[in-house]
Amino acid sequence: MTVFEGETGPWEAVIGLEVHAQVTSRAKLFSGASTAFGAEPNSQVSFIDAAFPGMLPVINEVCVAQAVRTGLGLNAEINLVSVFDRKNYFYPDLPAGYQISQYQQPIVGRGELVLDLPDGESRRVGITRLHLEMDAGKSLHDQDPNRTFVDLNRSGVALMEIVSEPDLRTPEEAAAYMRKLRMILRYIGSCDGNMEEGSLRCDANVSVRRPGDPLGTRTETKNLNSIRFVQQAIEYEIQRQIALIEEGGAVVQETRLWDTGRGITRPMRSKEEAHDYRYFPDPDLLPLELDPAWVEALQAELPELPDDKKARLLRDYGIGAYEASVLIAERSHADFFEAVARGRDARLAANWVIGELFGALNKSGKTIADSPVSAAALGGLIDLIADQTISGRIAKDVFEEMFATGQDAAAIVEAKGLKQVTDPSAIEPIIDAVLAANDDKVAQYRGGKDKLFGFFVGQVMKQSQGKANPALVNELLKTKLAGDAG
Ligand code: ADP
Ligand code: MG
Repeated sequence: MTVFEGETGPWEAVIGLEVHAQVTSRAKLFSGASTAFGAEPNSQVSFIDAAFPGMLPVINEVCVAQAVRTGLGLNAEINLVSVFDRKNYFYPDLPAGYQISQYQQPIVGRGELVLDLPDGESRRVGITRLHLEMDAGKSLHDQDPNRTFVDLNRSGVALMEIVSEPDLRTPEEAAAYMRKLRMILRYIGSCDGNMEEGSLRCDANVSVRRPGDPLGTRTETKNLNSIRFVQQAIEYEIQRQIALIEEGGAVVQETRLWDTGRGITRPMRSKEEAHDYRYFPDPDLLPLELDPAWVEALQAELPELPDDKKARLLRDYGIGAYEASVLIAERSHADFFEAVARGRDARLAANWVIGELFGALNKSGKTIADSPVSAAALGGLIDLIADQTISGRIAKDVFEEMFATGQDAAAIVEAKGLKQVTDPSAIEPIIDAVLAANDDKVAQYRGGKDKLFGFFVGQVMKQSQGKANPALVNELLKTKLAGDAG
């Protein structure tokens, strides 16, 4: 149990997250209309999505498979029989007057997710359930000064609602949970995780208590659409609730909104109860029955997930835990690293991918998919370091040139004459010249001022335009300085 003294004092926060993840599928959950983002309002709406009388929903197998695959990725129980219910409420962007969701019998039951905490520790967080439901439409308030319009493009798009146990204790853990969940979804390919486009949204349930006490009364802050907002809204709620209780007040169970501009949460409505929705099984849909063999096939085809990938990178490549965590953040990053590292010095490869390549990509606002330096090209550069054609120092300049021009390392080294000089007879004259030009320092060095050695190395490297082999320079310098004394 983590209590940050000074921040929450004797209070412990309890946090559970409900995440809505838009399912990656071309068509909606119960209709064939497109789910593409950013289309003209009401251009992707079937009669089912607009709730025309007498229309019948037909379940989309792709969406069901995505929910099952996600459940498997969360090590969760897959329920071979699940039921779709109607969740009844009125809202202008909900033409049917109900949302088709799952209530008592969701498609996925208990699972877990492993948090990777900044201190290198990991912690298990329980997943309560994952269920499938349809999204509602969207009210557009900013198109006209006096009227609100409704866009039904989103109506009927499949969502997975993923509910966590109240196992989280700090805003940082909540953020780590969101990052890990998004990573798993993206690895599986069941949700693009794009929070700006609303593909992933979070409702944060927060309460506070004295450690060991029963759970306190919670509030639910709705529709947080960035991980930063999740963290900030929870932080705010924790402090608000502590202050309220310490002043002798009590937390009211309610739904709140995050006010991005002011950085506060505000009450939205008092908390609704399940009976307010009068859930009942949708008579238009049969219970969903899954074939165990189909589920097994989905399990067998699941890609390697982040935790397994990290373990394998640590084991097979001998890189550090920090490097492994950075590399697995995106599947494409890990793939790129492996393509570079295979058959090479993996630690060196990790340093180049994380340090130079990611740094350059960041600076230029590019992603790895449009990297001007391919994995093969970066591998080629590392080969030139390994076989001593160029020094590590020169390699950085070569890399910059590769990134700017897309040329490969060997071509740049050739064209610019950057080959490392490993011939002593080419380095010795440079050393002689440097020593001759600095005879005062040579005398001081020989008089015991050892620190000057670095100065000589630097001068020789500079005179050789960085091309002299540093190990050889060291060796030759030592001999020269020790030798013809006087
Ligand atoms: P509802 O669907 O009405 O929001 P649930 O019981 O399904 O209610 O809980 C939703 C979320 O609230 C879950 O993530 C759960 O972990 C979390 N939760 C439940 N009780 C508390 C509490 N006292 N403090 C913080 N989170 C809680
Ligand atoms: Mg809820």
